[in-house]
Amino acid sequence: MARGSFSRRPTVRDRALCLRRYRYGESSLVVRVFTRSHGQVSLLAKGAYRMRSRYFGVLDLFDTLGLEWRASRAELGSLTGGEVLERRRALSADLDRYRAGLHVLELVALGTREAEPDPGLFQLTLDTLDALAQPDVEPELARLAFDLAFLAQLGLKPALEDCASCGRDLSRERAKLVPVSYRAGGRLCTDCATEEGGHRSPLARQALGNLKVAQSLMKTPIAALGRTRIAPASQEGLDRFVQGFAEYHLETQPRVRTVRRSTSPGPALPPTSTRASAS
Ligand SMILES: [Zn+2]
Repeated sequence: MARGSFSRRPTVRDRALCLRRYRYGESSLVVRVFTRSHGQVSLLAKGAYRMRSRYFGVLDLFDTLGLEWRASRAELGSLTGGEVLERRRALSADLDRYRAGLHVLELVALGTREAEPDPGLFQLTLDTLDALAQPDVEPELARLAFDLAFLAQLGLKPALEDCASCGRDLSRERAKLVPVSYRAGGRLCTDCATEEGGHRSPLARQALGNLKVAQSLMKTPIAALGRTRIAPASQEGLDRFVQGFAEYHLETQPRVRTVRRSTSPGPALPPTSTRASAS
Protein backbone atom coordinates (compact mmCIF):
# COMPACT_ATOMS: atom_id res chain seq x y z
CA MET A 1 0.00 0.00 0.00
CA ALA A 2 1.24 3.42 -0.90
CA ARG A 3 0.32 4.87 2.48
CA GLY A 4 2.14 2.12 4.37
CA SER A 5 5.31 2.40 2.28
CA PHE A 6 5.29 6.18 2.72
CA SER A 7 5.31 5.91 6.50
CA ARG A 8 8.12 3.34 6.42
CA ARG A 9 10.48 5.64 4.58
CA PRO A 10 13.43 6.48 6.82
CA THR A 11 13.95 10.06 7.92
CA VAL A 12 17.44 11.41 7.27
CA ARG A 13 19.22 14.45 8.68
CA ASP A 14 22.32 16.04 7.20
CA ARG A 15 24.13 19.27 6.58
CA ALA A 16 23.65 20.49 3.03
CA LEU A 17 24.39 23.14 0.43
CA CYS A 18 21.80 24.02 -2.18
CA LEU A 19 23.23 23.50 -5.69
CA ARG A 20 20.19 24.20 -7.85
CA ARG A 21 16.53 25.02 -7.44
CA TYR A 22 13.63 24.39 -9.79
CA ARG A 23 10.11 25.62 -9.37
CA TYR A 24 7.65 22.73 -9.13
CA GLY A 25 3.96 23.34 -9.72
CA GLU A 26 2.32 26.45 -8.27
CA SER A 27 4.12 26.81 -5.00
CA SER A 28 6.66 24.03 -4.54
CA LEU A 29 10.35 23.77 -5.14
CA VAL A 30 12.68 20.96 -6.10
CA VAL A 31 16.14 21.46 -4.68
CA ARG A 32 19.30 19.65 -5.65
CA VAL A 33 21.55 19.67 -2.61
CA PHE A 34 25.07 18.46 -1.85
CA THR A 35 25.08 16.88 1.58
CA ARG A 36 27.98 16.01 3.82
CA SER A 37 27.20 12.32 4.27
CA HIS A 38 24.79 11.43 1.44
CA GLY A 39 26.34 13.05 -1.63
CA GLN A 40 23.88 14.78 -3.94
CA VAL A 41 20.19 14.51 -3.07
CA SER A 42 17.10 15.86 -4.84
CA LEU A 43 14.31 16.97 -2.55
CA LEU A 44 10.78 18.23 -2.96
CA ALA A 45 9.95 21.19 -0.72
CA LYS A 46 6.18 21.37 -0.78
CA GLY A 47 4.74 24.88 -0.64
CA ALA A 48 8.21 26.46 -0.37
CA TYR A 49 7.10 29.52 -2.35
CA ARG A 50 4.22 30.34 0.00
CA MET A 51 4.92 33.36 2.18
CA ARG A 52 4.13 31.41 5.33
CA SER A 53 6.11 28.34 4.35
CA ARG A 54 8.57 27.11 6.96
CA TYR A 55 11.09 26.85 4.11
CA PHE A 56 10.68 30.46 3.03
CA GLY A 57 14.16 32.01 2.91
CA VAL A 58 15.73 28.75 4.07
CA LEU A 59 16.69 27.15 0.75
CA ASP A 60 19.06 29.82 -0.52
CA LEU A 61 22.28 29.22 -2.38
CA PHE A 62 25.58 29.52 -0.43
CA ASP A 63 24.08 28.98 3.06
CA THR A 64 24.94 25.93 5.16
CA LEU A 65 21.65 24.19 5.79
CA GLY A 66 20.48 21.58 8.28
CA LEU A 67 17.92 19.49 6.40
CA GLU A 68 15.67 16.61 7.32
CA TRP A 69 13.90 14.52 4.70
CA ARG A 70 12.13 11.27 4.01
CA ALA A 71 14.30 9.30 1.64
CA SER A 72 12.96 7.46 -1.36
CA ARG A 73 14.77 5.18 -3.77
CA ALA A 74 12.34 5.56 -6.63
CA GLU A 75 11.41 9.22 -6.48
CA LEU A 76 12.33 12.55 -4.95
CA GLY A 77 12.89 12.64 -1.23
CA SER A 78 10.45 14.90 0.60
CA LEU A 79 11.79 17.64 2.77
CA THR A 80 10.32 17.52 6.27
CA GLY A 81 12.43 20.13 8.04
CA GLY A 82 15.07 22.72 7.31
CA GLU A 83 17.04 25.47 8.99
CA VAL A 84 19.88 27.80 8.06
CA LEU A 85 22.98 26.89 10.06
CA GLU A 86 25.14 29.56 8.51
CA ARG A 87 23.89 32.45 6.41
CA ARG A 88 26.33 33.98 3.90
CA ARG A 89 24.58 37.11 2.76
CA ALA A 90 27.81 38.75 1.58
CA LEU A 91 27.85 36.47 -1.46
CA SER A 92 24.53 37.73 -2.73
CA ALA A 93 25.45 41.37 -2.18
CA ASP A 94 28.44 41.49 -4.53
CA LEU A 95 28.27 40.33 -8.16
CA ASP A 96 31.88 39.06 -8.35
CA ARG A 97 31.47 37.06 -5.14
CA TYR A 98 28.10 35.80 -6.32
CA ARG A 99 29.52 34.58 -9.63
CA ALA A 100 32.51 32.96 -7.95
CA GLY A 101 30.11 31.23 -5.55
CA LEU A 102 27.95 30.00 -8.44
CA HIS A 103 31.04 28.67 -10.18
CA VAL A 104 31.99 26.74 -7.02
CA LEU A 105 28.50 25.22 -6.71
CA GLU A 106 28.48 24.34 -10.39
CA LEU A 107 31.78 22.48 -10.19
CA VAL A 108 30.52 20.65 -7.11
CA ALA A 109 27.38 19.66 -9.05
CA LEU A 110 29.55 18.32 -11.88
CA GLY A 111 32.06 16.55 -9.66
CA THR A 112 29.73 14.74 -7.23
CA ARG A 113 26.99 12.14 -7.51
CA GLU A 114 23.96 10.83 -5.77
CA ALA A 115 24.64 8.62 -2.77
CA GLU A 116 28.39 9.16 -3.08
CA PRO A 117 29.42 11.22 -0.07
CA ASP A 118 32.61 13.25 -0.17
CA PRO A 119 32.99 14.91 3.24
CA GLY A 120 36.37 16.36 2.23
CA LEU A 121 34.87 18.16 -0.74
CA PHE A 122 31.93 19.24 1.40
CA GLN A 123 34.29 20.88 3.89
CA LEU A 124 36.37 22.44 1.08
CA THR A 125 33.19 23.94 -0.38
CA LEU A 126 32.15 25.37 3.02
CA ASP A 127 35.63 26.83 3.52
CA THR A 128 35.57 28.41 0.06
CA LEU A 129 32.14 29.96 0.57
CA ASP A 130 33.33 31.27 3.95
CA ALA A 131 36.38 32.79 2.25
CA LEU A 132 34.19 34.36 -0.45
CA ALA A 133 32.17 36.04 2.29
CA GLN A 134 35.31 37.73 3.65
CA PRO A 135 35.81 41.27 2.34
CA ASP A 136 39.64 40.95 2.23
CA VAL A 137 39.55 37.83 0.04
CA GLU A 138 39.64 38.45 -3.71
CA PRO A 139 36.81 36.39 -5.21
CA GLU A 140 38.73 35.43 -8.37
CA LEU A 141 41.64 34.20 -6.27
CA ALA A 142 39.35 32.16 -4.01
CA ARG A 143 37.75 30.64 -7.10
CA LEU A 144 41.15 29.71 -8.55
CA ALA A 145 42.30 28.21 -5.23
CA PHE A 146 39.06 26.24 -5.08
CA ASP A 147 39.50 24.94 -8.64
CA LEU A 148 42.96 23.59 -7.79
CA ALA A 149 41.84 22.07 -4.50
CA PHE A 150 38.72 20.65 -6.17
CA LEU A 151 40.82 18.90 -8.84
CA ALA A 152 43.10 17.48 -6.14
CA GLN A 153 40.10 16.29 -4.13
CA LEU A 154 38.79 14.42 -7.19
CA GLY A 155 42.18 12.80 -7.80
CA LEU A 156 42.80 15.06 -10.81
CA LYS A 157 45.60 17.20 -9.40
CA PRO A 158 47.64 18.56 -12.32
CA ALA A 159 51.33 17.56 -12.37
CA LEU A 160 53.29 20.76 -11.71
CA GLU A 161 56.75 19.73 -10.57
CA ASP A 162 57.05 16.22 -12.06
CA CYS A 163 56.44 15.06 -15.62
CA ALA A 164 52.80 13.97 -15.89
CA SER A 165 53.80 11.18 -18.27
CA CYS A 166 57.07 9.62 -17.02
CA GLY A 167 57.14 11.05 -13.49
CA ARG A 168 60.62 12.62 -13.87
CA ASP A 169 61.42 15.29 -11.26
CA LEU A 170 61.46 18.66 -13.07
CA SER A 171 61.90 20.88 -10.03
CA ARG A 172 65.40 22.00 -11.15
CA GLU A 173 64.47 22.95 -14.70
CA ARG A 174 64.61 26.68 -15.32
CA ALA A 175 62.95 27.23 -18.72
CA LYS A 176 60.64 30.23 -18.79
CA LEU A 177 57.89 28.42 -20.68
CA VAL A 178 57.22 24.74 -20.13
CA PRO A 179 55.03 22.30 -22.08
CA VAL A 180 51.76 21.20 -20.51
CA SER A 181 49.14 18.76 -21.69
CA TYR A 182 45.63 18.49 -20.34
CA ARG A 183 45.33 14.96 -21.69
CA ALA A 184 48.58 13.78 -20.08
CA GLY A 185 47.69 15.43 -16.77
CA GLY A 186 49.83 18.56 -16.56
CA ARG A 187 53.47 19.49 -17.04
CA LEU A 188 55.69 17.39 -19.32
CA CYS A 189 59.42 16.84 -19.66
CA THR A 190 60.99 17.63 -23.06
CA ASP A 191 61.10 13.99 -24.16
CA CYS A 192 57.48 13.28 -23.28
CA ALA A 193 56.41 16.62 -24.79
CA THR A 194 58.01 15.62 -28.11
CA GLU A 195 56.20 12.31 -28.04
CA GLU A 196 52.88 13.82 -26.93
CA GLY A 197 53.06 16.60 -29.52
CA GLY A 198 54.14 14.30 -32.33
CA HIS A 199 51.49 11.65 -31.92
CA ARG A 200 48.49 12.93 -30.07
CA SER A 201 47.29 16.34 -29.02
CA PRO A 202 48.56 19.86 -29.65
CA LEU A 203 50.61 21.08 -26.71
CA ALA A 204 50.12 24.25 -24.72
CA ARG A 205 52.90 26.14 -23.01
CA GLN A 206 52.67 27.67 -19.60
CA ALA A 207 54.96 30.10 -17.78
CA LEU A 208 56.94 28.15 -15.19
CA GLY A 209 56.31 31.00 -12.73
CA ASN A 210 52.57 30.39 -13.01
CA LEU A 211 52.96 26.72 -12.15
CA LYS A 212 54.99 27.71 -9.09
CA VAL A 213 52.22 30.10 -8.08
CA ALA A 214 49.74 27.23 -8.47
CA GLN A 215 51.87 25.09 -6.18
CA SER A 216 52.06 27.68 -3.46
CA LEU A 217 48.34 28.37 -3.83
CA MET A 218 47.64 24.69 -3.24
CA LYS A 219 49.64 24.84 -0.02
CA THR A 220 47.72 27.87 1.27
CA PRO A 221 44.62 27.04 3.32
CA ILE A 222 41.61 28.68 1.70
CA ALA A 223 40.80 30.34 5.04
CA ALA A 224 44.16 32.18 4.87
CA LEU A 225 43.63 33.64 1.39
CA GLY A 226 42.92 37.13 2.75
CA ARG A 227 46.65 37.78 2.96
CA THR A 228 47.38 36.32 -0.48
CA ARG A 229 47.80 38.37 -3.65
CA ILE A 230 49.14 37.26 -7.02
CA ALA A 231 50.07 39.29 -10.07
CA PRO A 232 47.13 39.79 -12.48
CA ALA A 233 49.05 38.40 -15.49
CA SER A 234 50.01 35.32 -13.50
CA GLN A 235 46.45 34.85 -12.30
CA GLU A 236 45.11 35.17 -15.83
CA GLY A 237 47.54 32.63 -17.31
CA LEU A 238 47.03 30.20 -14.46
CA ASP A 239 43.29 30.64 -14.67
CA ARG A 240 43.32 29.65 -18.34
CA PHE A 241 45.42 26.59 -17.60
CA VAL A 242 43.31 25.43 -14.65
CA GLN A 243 40.01 26.10 -16.45
CA GLY A 244 41.21 24.25 -19.54
CA PHE A 245 42.44 21.38 -17.42
CA ALA A 246 39.16 21.14 -15.47
CA GLU A 247 37.07 21.42 -18.63
CA TYR A 248 39.07 18.68 -20.32
CA HIS A 249 38.84 16.27 -17.39
CA LEU A 250 35.23 17.05 -16.48
CA GLU A 251 34.35 17.02 -20.19
CA THR A 252 32.30 20.16 -19.98
CA GLN A 253 32.58 23.90 -19.78
CA PRO A 254 31.08 25.33 -16.62
CA ARG A 255 28.16 27.59 -17.52
CA VAL A 256 29.14 30.43 -15.19
CA ARG A 257 32.33 31.05 -17.14
CA THR A 258 30.27 31.64 -20.27
CA VAL A 259 28.05 34.05 -18.37
CA ARG A 260 31.10 35.89 -17.16
CA ARG A 261 32.54 36.41 -20.61
CA SER A 262 29.29 37.52 -22.19
CA THR A 263 27.40 40.75 -21.67
CA SER A 264 24.46 38.83 -20.22
CA PRO A 265 23.22 40.75 -17.17
CA GLY A 266 23.43 37.95 -14.68
CA PRO A 267 22.92 34.43 -13.46
CA ALA A 268 19.64 32.62 -13.87
CA LEU A 269 18.91 31.96 -10.22
CA PRO A 270 18.35 35.01 -8.05
CA PRO A 271 18.64 34.35 -4.32
CA THR A 272 15.39 34.35 -2.40
CA SER A 273 16.98 35.93 0.66
CA THR A 274 16.18 39.40 -0.64
CA ARG A 275 12.53 38.47 -0.52
CA ALA A 276 12.90 36.83 2.85
CA SER A 277 14.60 39.84 4.39
CA ALA A 278 12.00 42.17 2.92
CA SER A 279 9.14 40.24 4.53
ZN1 LIG B 1 58.43 12.74 -19.13
